[in-house]
Amino acid sequence: MPTSSITPVASAVPCPVVESLDAILPEEPLLMMGAGPVPIPAAVAKANTIVINHLGGTMVKVIGQVKTMARYVFQTNSKWVLGVAGPGSAAMEMAISNLAWEGTRVLSIKNGFFSERMAEMGRRVGARVSTLDVDDGAVASLEQVAEAIRRERPEIVTVVQGETSNTVWNYHLKDIAALAKAAGALVIIDAVCTLSTMPLEMDAWGIDAVITGGQKGLSSIPGVSLIAFSDAAWARVKGRTAPNAHWCLDASLAENFWHNAGYHYTAPVSGVLALHEALRLVCAETLEKRFARHLKCSLALQEGIAALGLNLYAPPACRLNSVVGIEVPKGLSPGDICGHISRQHQVEISGSFGLPIVRIGQMGEQCREHNLFRTLHALGRTMLDLGAAVDLPAGVAALEKSLSGGARVLAR
Ligand SMILES: *Cc1c(COP(=O)(O)O)cnc(C)c1O
Repeated sequence: MPTSSITPVASAVPCPVVESLDAILPEEPLLMMGAGPVPIPAAVAKANTIVINHLGGTMVKVIGQVKTMARYVFQTNSKWVLGVAGPGSAAMEMAISNLAWEGTRVLSIKNGFFSERMAEMGRRVGARVSTLDVDDGAVASLEQVAEAIRRERPEIVTVVQGETSNTVWNYHLKDIAALAKAAGALVIIDAVCTLSTMPLEMDAWGIDAVITGGQKGLSSIPGVSLIAFSDAAWARVKGRTAPNAHWCLDASLAENFWHNAGYHYTAPVSGVLALHEALRLVCAETLEKRFARHLKCSLALQEGIAALGLNLYAPPACRLNSVVGIEVPKGLSPGDICGHISRQHQVEISGSFGLPIVRIGQMGEQCREHNLFRTLHALGRTMLDLGAAVDLPAGVAALEKSLSGGARVLAR
């Protein structure tokens, strides 16, 4: 018998020695109370462990239900709902790159980091992007928007519903969409942070494209996102002659998978299953109850933070409820606070791209009363540990008072 001629050869790149995840991950999972990703419900986590045939009959049924549920969440009857393998920004790029190209006039209402991202994506596809620059902590007035639309005659207007970066809520959305519509422009809305946390009515408000990510209001995993196009927007997608430079994000190719049970690329099946469960939980709760839960929890948290003696960043009139921004006390940095609260209290919160604030998310599963108490307590303790004077008992009491509606009546 010939002996094996396979002689082991040392690989050019040596096999690495790494730590196991058990060694890297904290013993107790951190409570994710930052600006996303957010905690996921058990049903979402379970779905995310499953792999099925991406082109089989089960997947076709799942995709059909995802689209049906997404239509409810977007409040649209448009057929043109699609999923995207990628972050919220991939859905954003799908909207921009399919609707805008060389020379398209785009007006971007810019009031922070994420609204600027839409402008940047427009520039990258060669569009003629103008921005309506709004001061930090403010929203564009309808007069400013009307003026900018008259001046720029845009074919597309982009707006973010909740500017997560500086925690500003663009409460004029419906009227901005109406102004754009009247001028013949399509309206793209970034609802990554806000979808299912506050009202957004795609059809009734005349919105042409809505984008969202998985890991925020919907409480799904990051990496699978959703987009909806109106009929008018879809007609523009179909009518374009210039090919889209993005192959993965080409909506006409994505239609193969999302509408014709065909192949585009291998869909992130586990993530789509997770999204299915996240959407199913939204439907089980209903939008009305979900909005009410978010409002109640966010206002209570805001009252608790104020009672600690800390200042909220955004003015009340345009304050976003889905993510709460808190001014950092003198002498501290956002990094000090986020690091300490994570290490000492196993609660994650966020800084914000250079602004002097920390942010606590109020999206999906973050809006649970027990999470609010733990987070507010951890924030208050962190401030005390770091030498900032806050009134922790007053903060916790204000949170409780707000959540219980002012006066707790004991059942007899
Ligand atoms: C988080 C966020 C994004 C970006 O989402 P990614 O999933 O990080 O790409 C865009 N817009 C808004 C308003 C966001 O909150």
